Amino acid sequence: MLEYDSLLFIGGKLAATASTSVIEIHSAATEELIGRTPEASPADVDAAVGAARRAFDDPKGWSTWEPRARARVLEQFATELEARADEITRRVSQQNGMPITTAAMLESALPATVFRYYADLVRITDVEETRHGLLGGRAQVRRTPLGVVAAIVPWNYPNLVTAFKMAPALAAGCTVVLKPSPETVLDSYVMAEAAQSAGIPDGVINIVPGGASTGSYLVSHPGVDKVTFTGSTAVGRQIAATCGDLLRPVTLELGGKSAAIILDDADLMSNLEGLFQIALLNNGQTCVANGRILVPRSRYEETLDVLCALVSGASVGDPLDPQTQIGPLVSARHRARVEGYIAKGVEEGARLVTGGGRPRELAKGWFVEPTLFADVGPESTIAQEEIFGPVLAVIPYDDVDDAVRIANNTKYGLAGTIWTSDEKRGEELSRRVRSGTVGINYFMLDPVAPFGGIKASGLGRELGPEGLDACLQTQSVYFATT
Ligand code: NAD
Repeated sequence: MLEYDSLLFIGGKLAATASTSVIEIHSAATEELIGRTPEASPADVDAAVGAARRAFDDPKGWSTWEPRARARVLEQFATELEARADEITRRVSQQNGMPITTAAMLESALPATVFRYYADLVRITDVEETRHGLLGGRAQVRRTPLGVVAAIVPWNYPNLVTAFKMAPALAAGCTVVLKPSPETVLDSYVMAEAAQSAGIPDGVINIVPGGASTGSYLVSHPGVDKVTFTGSTAVGRQIAATCGDLLRPVTLELGGKSAAIILDDADLMSNLEGLFQIALLNNGQTCVANGRILVPRSRYEETLDVLCALVSGASVGDPLDPQTQIGPLVSARHRARVEGYIAKGVEEGARLVTGGGRPRELAKGWFVEPTLFADVGPESTIAQEEIFGPVLAVIPYDDVDDAVRIANNTKYGLAGTIWTSDEKRGEELSRRVRSGTVGINYFMLDPVAPFGGIKASGLGRELGPEGLDACLQTQSVYFATT
């Protein structure tokens, strides 16, 4: 049992809070209470934003350091995170049910890579240039850090999403107030420890765990200069409205309902194994999960056979066991939501090929069997709404135009994949897919490639140089002389 009695990371240290509200964290696999932390109160958020504000406004502080000096500290931060990889991995797996092999890769190794990437990038990014004016003078054009960034993250990839937000913000010279999700708070205390050991100056990173009220208080706080949010579209809309009212810059990474288009020339054995991995990544609790699988009628039954073997053969169980492919869902409430979608699929006439229930041998934990539906109507609920669980919906298509129409027929536009033995054909087809990212024969979030959605999947981009740009603002200075 991990207890952080009354302690929050504000101003560079774990400090006592007067908040009497407590967050209880349960193991997704055993349902046991595994940790307790305070929930940040409005006074704590005031203190955190105040610390971030002072650190940002300090005339000799972080925002004024040479980029290479910040880069050195960020590299050390990556090293400190790597030194704590086992602890981070274990805490994330226990809290949200992510299989430990996935957590090791995506919640420990990749966040450190993202910090190193931005350390390298900020060293070579020009933030100042001089332009000769057309009217006799000259202009110096500077890109300066935006200020205090409020970063609100979900429970499904708590460390990775934090790195997507924190690494470019810190590299740019911003300071950060992070609000982790109440389901996954315990790993954020390891991040705080790493920040201290890395020598991140006091107030540059502050962490205020809490739910919706803590989050909305932070979003509208007068000391915040920019908001970056990852989570559901519904909450994203509320945050966008608040930021619109305040004219406050905002980046929104929201939900998705991505489609995998299997072309008629796909190598089913190798392609479907890859698709299975990304479609059910983190038990389907993934924004880029390809929950809709579009299959040509000419290869429909053979594709279903291979998919059924993969889904029904997946090992379901303890997320801490390296053999486990599918762990439990994050909470009882979330499992009930996913089960509601399974019932809806049956009710609306989809064919349940495998799964659909709870694994009989697992009495404890919020498990759902990996589930495969076939003959899913493109307009049906399970083809349109984000399920966020281990549920796949196979939809037949007539020809490529039909596949593109079905793939684009959603309010979302986050990701998608194309599976083919002809990469050129895949590339051509990707131009017709309306989403922020597309994968051909697999999908990976690479730090160099901008990531984000269109339509109801969000606004703005993270990662790549675009992610750094989103933390900078432009100032131009006119000089009377040339
Ligand atoms: P959520 O929207 O319920 O919560 C996300 C975060 O916002 C949490 O920290 C939560 O405490 C906080 N929050 C809730 N209400 C708030 C409010 N009114 N004001 C401010 N903050 C508030 O989402 P979730 O259930 O934690 O995460 C799942 C969702 O996140 C899915 O829709 C998924 O697709 C999305 N997601 C998107 C991406 C992406 O990059 N596009 C990545 C991961 C998850």
